[in-house]
Amino acid sequence: KERVRQDKNQKDEIADLSNVFNEMMDDVEISFQKQKQFVEDASHELRTPISILEGHLKLLNRWGKNDPEVLEESLKASQQEVERLKMLVYELLELTRLESDRLELAEDFIEPVHVVEDVVKKFTLLYPSLTFKYENSLKSEMKVAIAERHLEQVLIILLDNAVKYSNGSTTVEIVTEQIQDHFALSIKDYGIGIPKEDLEKVFDRFYRVDKARSREKGGQGLGLSIAKRMVNNYKGTISADSEEGEWTIITVKLNGVIEEITQQE
Ligand code: ADP
Repeated sequence: KERVRQDKNQKDEIADLSNVFNEMMDDVEISFQKQKQFVEDASHELRTPISILEGHLKLLNRWGKNDPEVLEESLKASQQEVERLKMLVYELLELTRLESDRLELAEDFIEPVHVVEDVVKKFTLLYPSLTFKYENSLKSEMKVAIAERHLEQVLIILLDNAVKYSNGSTTVEIVTEQIQDHFALSIKDYGIGIPKEDLEKVFDRFYRVDKARSREKGGQGLGLSIAKRMVNNYKGTISADSEEGEWTIITVKLNGVIEEITQQE
């Protein structure tokens, strides 16, 4: 009887182990597939600027020596494509770094308002014809768990998009507020908007609502996925809401702590 029970126990253990092993292999397979997809997507995106460059080099080779117009135009276009390639490679590296958990997360809490003020000031200088309205309604001194440079980078991505897709509108609104225990940052623009069915997809790598339009504005479809990775790494969330042709709001929520300002005696 004892022997039978031992056999049964052993069998159960083997079955358990084999289940654990299978689950592990499923995870490995999923992760492998994801990486494969990433490399495929990245190669696809790199191909476009490379073929455009190739085209211009051919033009230059054939006509450039005798036709100053071709020379000027093709050189200018080539330079633009090289810029695009540089940006794309930079963004791809950033995304890979964020996805491989090598990111050092800040353990400190920062005061977000100063960071937001600084970035908004930079944009005001950069785009003098636009109005950036910043409203802060954080009641107490709220601190947030994120590295300053990451909050800065997320805000730059969101403001860049608000400008890129502004469609002639001139106001961008930035709000920081407290929602329950969270710190919330939202950027609203009155530009082209995002169709309802694309609201979640815009955070996917390489996703662009309108490929041609985004490319014309220098977009690679990576900005929002980088912002999302960054925010998620700090256990925060990012979401989009929009009315097509009217407005877009992107909201970032992060964990916050409130430090009551105590009067010194
Ligand atoms: P991109 O570099 O193409 O702007 P993002 O990842 O930053 O890439 O954004 C993905 C897509 O989401 C954009 O191509 C654009 O179609 C859409 N999008 C992002 N922000 C806005 C916005 N503020 N208004 C309208 N569309 C936007």
